[in-house]
Amino acid sequence: MVVRKQLSTLVFLVLVSSVLVSRSLTAQSAAQPAVFGYADFAAQAKIEQEFLAVPDAKLAGQHLKTLTAEPHLASSPEDHKTAEYVAQKFRAAGLETEIVPFRVLLNQPKEVRVEAWDQSGKLLMSGPTKEHVEGDPFQDDPRVVMPFNGSSGSGDVTAEVVYANYGRLEDFDQLAARHIDLKGKIVLVRYGGNFRGVKVFIAEQRGAAGVLIYSDPQDDGFSNGDAYPQGPWRPETGVQRGSVQYMFEYPGDPETPGVASTLDLPDSARVSPYGSQPRIISIPLSYHDASPILQALQGPGVPKGWQGGLGFRYHIGTVEGQGSVKVHLVSVQDYQRRIIWDVIGKIKGSEFPDDWVVVGNHRDAWVYGAVDPNSGTAAMLESVHGVGALIKQGWRPKRTIVFCSWDAEEEGLVGSTEWVEQNAKSLEHAVAYFNTDVAVAGPDFSAAAVPSLKEFLRELTRSVPSPQGGTVYQQWKINSASGNERRRSNSPPVAGEEVRVGDLGSGSDFTAFFQHVGVPSTDISSGGPYGVYHSVFDNYAWYTQNADPNFVYLQEMARVFGLEALRMADADVLPYDYVAYAREINSYIEAAKHKASDQGLSLDFASAQAAVTRLSVAAERVRGLQIAASGDLPKLNLALRQAESDLLSDAGLPHRPWFRHPIFAPGEYTGYAAVVIPGVNEAIDSKDQQRATQQLSVLAQALTRAAQTLEGAR
Ligand SMILES: [Zn+2]
Repeated sequence: MVVRKQLSTLVFLVLVSSVLVSRSLTAQSAAQPAVFGYADFAAQAKIEQEFLAVPDAKLAGQHLKTLTAEPHLASSPEDHKTAEYVAQKFRAAGLETEIVPFRVLLNQPKEVRVEAWDQSGKLLMSGPTKEHVEGDPFQDDPRVVMPFNGSSGSGDVTAEVVYANYGRLEDFDQLAARHIDLKGKIVLVRYGGNFRGVKVFIAEQRGAAGVLIYSDPQDDGFSNGDAYPQGPWRPETGVQRGSVQYMFEYPGDPETPGVASTLDLPDSARVSPYGSQPRIISIPLSYHDASPILQALQGPGVPKGWQGGLGFRYHIGTVEGQGSVKVHLVSVQDYQRRIIWDVIGKIKGSEFPDDWVVVGNHRDAWVYGAVDPNSGTAAMLESVHGVGALIKQGWRPKRTIVFCSWDAEEEGLVGSTEWVEQNAKSLEHAVAYFNTDVAVAGPDFSAAAVPSLKEFLRELTRSVPSPQGGTVYQQWKINSASGNERRRSNSPPVAGEEVRVGDLGSGSDFTAFFQHVGVPSTDISSGGPYGVYHSVFDNYAWYTQNADPNFVYLQEMARVFGLEALRMADADVLPYDYVAYAREINSYIEAAKHKASDQGLSLDFASAQAAVTRLSVAAERVRGLQIAASGDLPKLNLALRQAESDLLSDAGLPHRPWFRHPIFAPGEYTGYAAVVIPGVNEAIDSKDQQRATQQLSVLAQALTRAAQTLEGAR
């Protein structure tokens, strides 16, 4: 079976390369390059073919096993050991490697306690219950950190409970419409629908004293299929840990927004952490622990859509004194400035050493992190293996490739954010940032990207074989058609596109690159049924049983990831598609216009629309230059890269200056999902006509700057 698969892969590689070669021959006769960004792809096709043959499924499996042998929470000794392992692999491949430390504020739990009583004073539960299933070999390690929320406040609170569904803005608004006062209450919400930090953010705004966040079986448990260890879904005691940092205000070290928290940064340069940190307590729960609380809640029945998968009718539970449940929460969090370690490995470019192609994945995990994130690390190490094989033959990329293993992503994208803040100047001309986080949870490839790199990803995945046969692109297409994409299909389909590439919101390490310093970015993943996210059960046993027993998807992702770096690093012309970018921005403006008129706002969209039209025209002309790929290419590349930087606004978004991209940001009320043209849309959402007008003008100026740069390109 395995042998046959490898054989068919080999045959496939030969076929792909011959197809590519013949495509480039036809293309030459038609005076059109076969691959966007290359005048003649033949030489590059050969390099890519050599690269694709190297990433090894078995070796990737060994990396995964080593990296996930012990729990390795950011800043722990075990986390440092994984940094050493990655650094050693980087060095072995010939990368110039260093471990870069930062000193950042992180909490670790000293005590977490939840107790609940019904109206008569009967004890309903006392927890949290230890995560446990029959036969998991990893669950009993004493180093497994108790379930807690990164950035939670400390405290001791006893109060009545109110159930608030997913804790979305509309859920809280429904409670408000029923005159349910949350002041001093404990809000019980389920995971899903938004980023957990948003649930706490709104609860805090509404005056709640604490938040319990539990995993409902409807969302990632038995309602979807068998729970672990019978299947991939969340078992009864499984808990989703996670950060509740207000990353949509700014990510990274909460005490150093915009500044790198290097070891020598004086404490006087640090600010109050509450710009991105909640003051109230929040605690994550399994449904084993949440169920007795929910079941005892009485009061009004829940609105439509609020009923979850537990076997009883849910109630909001807030009639004072009647049918109420009292909960006692204790959260003792040990906040310290702790050391974290990024691992950075470079191969210097032969022609444009200052133009970096940055490739990254985080390494730290809440517990073992087999899927999140070490499937990504294992894949990246095999990408590095492949690049190393080329280096050993004397090959050098034209641009510098920088491989990065980030630390403390889980706490708030900390390692990547601090490194970006430290290297902001150099990154002004970095040509791309390629991210992967949850690289493999199953067989379904998906991606998100800046619109200018969506076609780059589609084209590239046509050169990589899929373990299911054919190319990654072909499988992606089948998957898109069946509506099976599990993540990131948040952007509307565009006519003529076979596969959808999502938009970049937040929730992983591309955030600082793309939204703070304007480096064009992508994020790739291979998804599947995955119910053990951020629990002790996201471990090697679960992975080999459910996600990828033969590690062939690690191999696939290693190939795609490495190929992104190679193709970008060696391109004659940067393969940015501004035509598609302008088209997408135009559709965002159209949608915002409709929304504004639906809300009865009278806004003038004319200058923003004129600016995007101008960008579109300039992009069409530049596309001709990109395809011709002749003349002063370094100058053309400079303009292509500059156009993305032109979009950034110095002032940043209203209330959150760290976010400087006026086209994409994480939503203040969605957190993970991208809000497009956020300044404009969030002003419309809050019916603020003056701010919307001002943000439309910011947008028009940004688009005009980018258009002017492209118009000047020769
Ligand atoms: Zn992750």
